[in-house]
Amino acid sequence: MRHPRLTSPIILASFTAAAISVGVLTVRQVTKFFDGLPPPGTFQDGAGDPAAAGPPRTAMNPLTPLAPPPHSISEHVIAKNSTIARTLQNLGFLATERATILSALKPWASPTRLAAGTQLKAYILNAEDAYPRRLDLHLDKNTIVRFSKQSSGNWTASNYEPPLERRIASYSGVVNGSLWNSAAGAGMDPQIISRLTEIFGWQVDFHREVQRGDRWRLTVERFYSEGKPVRLGEIIAAEYDNDGNINTAVLAPDEGQYYTPEGNSLRRMFLRSPLRFARITSGFNAHRFHPILHIAKPHLGIDYGAATGTPIMAVGAGTVAFAAYHGASGNTVTLRHNSVYSTHYKHLSRFAADVHPGSRVKMGQIIGYVGRTGLATGPHLHFELHANGRYVDPSGVRLPTADPLPAKQLASFKAVASKALSELPPWSAGMLTDARRTSRDSDDEEKTQ
Ligand SMILES: [Zn+2]
Repeated sequence: MRHPRLTSPIILASFTAAAISVGVLTVRQVTKFFDGLPPPGTFQDGAGDPAAAGPPRTAMNPLTPLAPPPHSISEHVIAKNSTIARTLQNLGFLATERATILSALKPWASPTRLAAGTQLKAYILNAEDAYPRRLDLHLDKNTIVRFSKQSSGNWTASNYEPPLERRIASYSGVVNGSLWNSAAGAGMDPQIISRLTEIFGWQVDFHREVQRGDRWRLTVERFYSEGKPVRLGEIIAAEYDNDGNINTAVLAPDEGQYYTPEGNSLRRMFLRSPLRFARITSGFNAHRFHPILHIAKPHLGIDYGAATGTPIMAVGAGTVAFAAYHGASGNTVTLRHNSVYSTHYKHLSRFAADVHPGSRVKMGQIIGYVGRTGLATGPHLHFELHANGRYVDPSGVRLPTADPLPAKQLASFKAVASKALSELPPWSAGMLTDARRTSRDSDDEEKTQ
């Protein structure tokens, strides 16, 4: 199941968040972090014992039961100036049986020309067997030829692809320097942190709101082949504690999307309009003739005609970035919604009482009232949407949908969520109580450029 591709604004948002987090590291360090799997100290292979992989905090729990284990496995390497025939002989195979096995090998390789160092695994399947009934010849990195003795006594050979084993890894971390560094501190592939910022991109502005002392914990799929990690799967469940405000996400496997444990989408859709009863009097127009200035002046927002005093709602949750009188715009409120989107509300008659720079607003919260302050022909709201600092036409942007899970899936999802949340690791011990208290005053964190 692939992680679904989200609509482009979200990709942009999450990419920005990840890229910004990288900013505190040097390129060299980042390259090293991404230099293949596993990250140092996290995985051990070869032992075949899941419990032995990694320190306690990153312990692996096998989920997928494997086929019944063979009685014993022995590993052999074809020595220089030797042959597979010799190896088979050493394993106790008689001449006729060796010939059958070598003949089955011929479609893949010449039995006399195998490279020195070629690995052969021999499987004694049952305790009472006198010799192997299965052989795996590792011709190269990607090719395993599996020989199996049939009940008829014949040997067959086929290409063998080892099954992937799914394990769940769990990690938790505390932000001390940067979010990015907290992954390294937890011994976790930083790639997983960028996925975390994707999941919570609409709850947390990872560009600006990450605080020292923020905590996160998650479970993520890892796929193993023959005991070796081959790739990451999906984050199963995650929590991000942003300055004491805990956000929770659980993957709905059938949807390939993340929801709160109650089945609500983590993606927040903007309201279609900042006014409850909107009448657009002037749309977004890059080539408009300005009614007052009488010059060609693009109209980079939408005008809503409404009576003075009509309440104006925040179209999305966010932080007040600006709330003051501003020249021709008159009384203006600017909201930052995440690292990509901001909205701007102009010509207000007055501000809502609790709207000040830095204060948080919820989607739909009243932030002010329609007026005609600044340069305005009459009472109206001039509304702008900016993406990455550029004006965009709010009616032309495909903003993400945020539908909750369909009701008929809710019961089964709640069961999935309950189990997934119970499997989250404990929060990392902070040791950061003091740091958290002073984090807003410190000057060495999260000032990513
Ligand atoms: Zn306007």
